Amino acid sequence: MSDSAAKLELAEDEATFVNERGAGGVLTIDLAAIAANWRDCQERAGNAECGAVIKADAYGLGIEPVAAALARAGCQTFFVALLDEALRVCTVAPGAAIYVLNGFNPATAPAFQDIDARPVLGSLEEIEEWDSYARKINEPLAAAIHVDTGMSRHGLTVAEAEQVARKQNDFAFALTLVMSHLARADEAGHEMTAAQIEKFAGIVALFPGIPASLANSAGLLAHPDSHFDLVRPGIALYGGEALIGENSKKSVMQPVVRLDVHVLQVRHGKQGDTVGYGGEYTLKRDSRLAVLSAGYADGIPRASGSTDTRRGMEAVVAGRRCPIVGRVSMDLIVADVTEIPEGDVKRGDMVRLLGEGITVDDLARASGTVGYEILTRLGRRYRRVYEGE
Ligand SMILES: *Cc1c(COP(=O)(O)O)cnc(C)c1O
Repeated sequence: MSDSAAKLELAEDEATFVNERGAGGVLTIDLAAIAANWRDCQERAGNAECGAVIKADAYGLGIEPVAAALARAGCQTFFVALLDEALRVCTVAPGAAIYVLNGFNPATAPAFQDIDARPVLGSLEEIEEWDSYARKINEPLAAAIHVDTGMSRHGLTVAEAEQVARKQNDFAFALTLVMSHLARADEAGHEMTAAQIEKFAGIVALFPGIPASLANSAGLLAHPDSHFDLVRPGIALYGGEALIGENSKKSVMQPVVRLDVHVLQVRHGKQGDTVGYGGEYTLKRDSRLAVLSAGYADGIPRASGSTDTRRGMEAVVAGRRCPIVGRVSMDLIVADVTEIPEGDVKRGDMVRLLGEGITVDDLARASGTVGYEILTRLGRRYRRVYEGE
């Protein structure tokens, strides 16, 4: 890097973060935990290869540092959703195979070729376009095909896959993966998963010698016969629940994120006062309230607030759980800290919103969503600290 480039980077950094106090909080991402979770997944995958799904900025945690950590751990196959994401991965994981789940548009073919990214082709039209591009430049560009076995989302129909199988030896491109996606694998033992596995096995048989991939995190953990040649965990790597119901807690690997936010002030509220927009939460006693520097613009779901009749999310204040009271605002939330001894929580302290027993899935449950959505919406306003690099 040239001197002036280094200075510019420093200047930009300084402009973004004066110091820790310039941001509302600190999001700590444990890269060693992500790497350990990947190794755990690889072990559970047995003879299958374990890839990693790092779409959506690695589930909100930062695609470059996460991809680099996974590559160091030994991961050789990555899945992103978009070509722009593949561009960010190829620089930090040189030599890895990068599949682009959302496929490709003819206008982007040269860009795919430039970085050796592999589109996941999900229609006859896409296959035809990729094939003619490979033929035109006379290079066996790699690509996957996606066959729909029950999601009714991306992918060829089974009949189309049969048609493609008959032509597979005539393609100018290199077919390197046949894949499909499970719709209900998070419900351990659901019959739809068995049906999808059977359907997919039938398709795989039409493509002898081509590696096959079906399992997401839930398939990896709960359905060993979905493993095939390559598994594609996402959420399990990031410490989220991959299974629902009674298996949910068991499906969690090492936690990966901690979120600490600043206490802006501690104030007194009188019994009968309401807290926040809409006055939906009434103090039942004289209370002490900590005003915290995070809100829905920071990915704290608006639905995680509390009303007089509904308990919402919690925070860990001085080692103890305290309820968040009232609605979540754009940049602020309020914790009831009446139970915390006076002096143990004061202006400038940090309060934990994720970590110390509060998981992304706990926050998700308090707001009627899933851990995936919590992670991918944490946003860019926190100061980010990467541990275990
Ligand atoms: C997101 C995604 C995955 C990973 O799913 P998790 O539930 O996060 O493990 C795997 N395959 C495809 C096609 C996906 O879109």
